[in-house]
Amino acid sequence: MAELHIEGLERRFGSGKPALDGISFDVAEREFVFLLGPSGAGKTTTLRLTAGLDHPDAGRILLGGRDMAGIAPRERNVAMVYDKHSLYPHLNVFENMAYPLRLRGLTDADMKARIDRTSEILGIGQLLDRRPGQLSGGQQQRVAIGRALVRDASIYLMDEPISHLDAKLRAHMRVEFKKLQREFAATILYVSHDQLEAMTMGDRIIVLDQGRVQQIGTPRDIYDRPANRFVAEFVGEPAMNTLTCDLMQDGTGWKAVSQDFAVHLDVAWVQRHGLQNRKPGKVVLGLRPQHLTLVPSEDTGQPNVEDGRVYAVETLGSETVYDIEIGGTVLRLWSRRQADGRPLPAIGAPLHFRVNPQALHLFD
Ligand code: ADP
Ligand code: MG
Repeated sequence: MAELHIEGLERRFGSGKPALDGISFDVAEREFVFLLGPSGAGKTTTLRLTAGLDHPDAGRILLGGRDMAGIAPRERNVAMVYDKHSLYPHLNVFENMAYPLRLRGLTDADMKARIDRTSEILGIGQLLDRRPGQLSGGQQQRVAIGRALVRDASIYLMDEPISHLDAKLRAHMRVEFKKLQREFAATILYVSHDQLEAMTMGDRIIVLDQGRVQQIGTPRDIYDRPANRFVAEFVGEPAMNTLTCDLMQDGTGWKAVSQDFAVHLDVAWVQRHGLQNRKPGKVVLGLRPQHLTLVPSEDTGQPNVEDGRVYAVETLGSETVYDIEIGGTVLRLWSRRQADGRPLPAIGAPLHFRVNPQALHLFD
């Protein structure tokens, strides 16, 4: 039985588009599930409904098999991470974390063990006797996370809990959060707009946009087989290139012709997508920047080698991202740093790259 079961949830504020337009998903016991989507997708609304802070216009929420309609927030046994401003200013960090445990009657020894472990992982172990006012914003936020995680809840609801921390601390917290979740065998529904967080931490990801579920799957499913163009462009760094093409028969094979160049398609790929039975017409192809490869100029003229010019180049130490201009099209290409240490090409310099036709994505 799913710990959290959400079915046909709708929520409308005023007359415009609904904030939630009939979403359904499950979170299994001990699962770490991400609700991923851009700002305004309906993520916070979903958490608030689950916590009982707001009420749906339609649909059902079951927690541990029990229908939550009419059940008050305090009776739901959910722990929600609010932001740092919800800490009690007159209590020190230990007492802030102990508060929800005392309410549940834990023994002092159990309470101390749980607080020690949680605060150690969150890196706030040495701050236990300080008050919130004596902590930095990032430290306060970690205390707020700790206060939610120390208590035993059937599900933990987290709304972008680390998005305000600086980049280095965020990277540390991604790893630690995952460890903490395993160690406490916690069931977590975690809201984020950051695909990197979802990809690295989530057991499964629910991609939400405009109040609708776009796809549900493991990070790998979502990355390798995005269900639609929105998911394809939202997940993956740098973002997937998309190209509108005409699909045409080319002798015995197939090609996709965009305004600026043609891609010869792989026969197995065409069959896998059932294109051999299809009338010629427009399709949208997706090409991940990782699936375009720089090749030497001698390779020009080979199948699927294109000639372009450097539009922009961005180097990140061990990797380089090229924006390559081919006529009126700009494609992004991701590459490891050249092993021979040659300098980066100048803006406008000619560049040759190969498209891997087996790695193409197809969208209608
Ligand atoms: P997210 O957390 O994904 O950024 P929200 O769930 O906060 O999105 O909001 C989804 C949509 O619902 C947005 O268009 C937002 O403006 C609207 N919305 C959310 N809460 C309210 C509210 N209390 N009153 C009016 N509109 C709201
Ligand atoms: Mg939100």
